Amino acid sequence: MRVSMISLKSPREIDLMRKAGAIAGAARALAGKMVAPGVTTGEIDSAVRKFIEGQGATPSFLNYNGFPGSACISVNEQVIHGIPGGRKLLAGDIVSVDVGACYHGFHGDCAGTYPCGEISAEAQRLIEVTEGSFWAGIAYAKPGNRVYDISHVVQQYVEERGCSVVRDFVGHGVGAKLHEPPEVPNFGPAGHGPRLQAGMTIAVEPMVNAGDFQVTVLKDGWTTVTTDGSLAAHYENSILITDGEPEILTAEGNL
Ligand code: MG
Repeated sequence: MRVSMISLKSPREIDLMRKAGAIAGAARALAGKMVAPGVTTGEIDSAVRKFIEGQGATPSFLNYNGFPGSACISVNEQVIHGIPGGRKLLAGDIVSVDVGACYHGFHGDCAGTYPCGEISAEAQRLIEVTEGSFWAGIAYAKPGNRVYDISHVVQQYVEERGCSVVRDFVGHGVGAKLHEPPEVPNFGPAGHGPRLQAGMTIAVEPMVNAGDFQVTVLKDGWTTVTTDGSLAAHYENSILITDGEPEILTAEGNL
């Protein structure tokens, strides 16, 4: 009987995921450095694609379910899945960049939110709360704990700071597929969900709104915005569950 669809990666697969993750992490950093007034989201997307392909990998998102870019670039009230194009960034914008790289059949997936020039104190704090919730959550990413132990801590961390976590989209297993079991929500009761085991690889990705948690998908079928128009931020890394601390596969500087 199959008790779980969650794949445990072999040492060889983990090595490929380290490489894929390193490429994705470096592509995120490149995109973040490009965020500046006057730059278009399409220019960032092109640079991300060129970089990933130059590393012998392919952009995981390009044509994924028909997505037309190599990076999802989501500005201000856009939470996720923004389509890159001619939009010129303005000083004061916050810009979420989500990138994936596939290397020899394995994916790395990561995201971050970057300030464009000078941003408001509220926006800066939202970015910090979002990233902080990731680190608080993955402190529980250890064998024997359950997936929702991570989820619960992310939610608690965010809500204690007056922000909200998106419910309609969740983190996920990552590996030979960009999205694999298990789902890794950013909310829920501790002590539930699959038990974590060494060799699992998951993408933990808090999507945090400054206002209400509800989101709306625009008519383009992709761009997801906060329903109340408040700012949103996103932070994600692909991680490996080990016998000790989780390994950040998409850390900057791993390449
Ligand atoms: Mg993801």
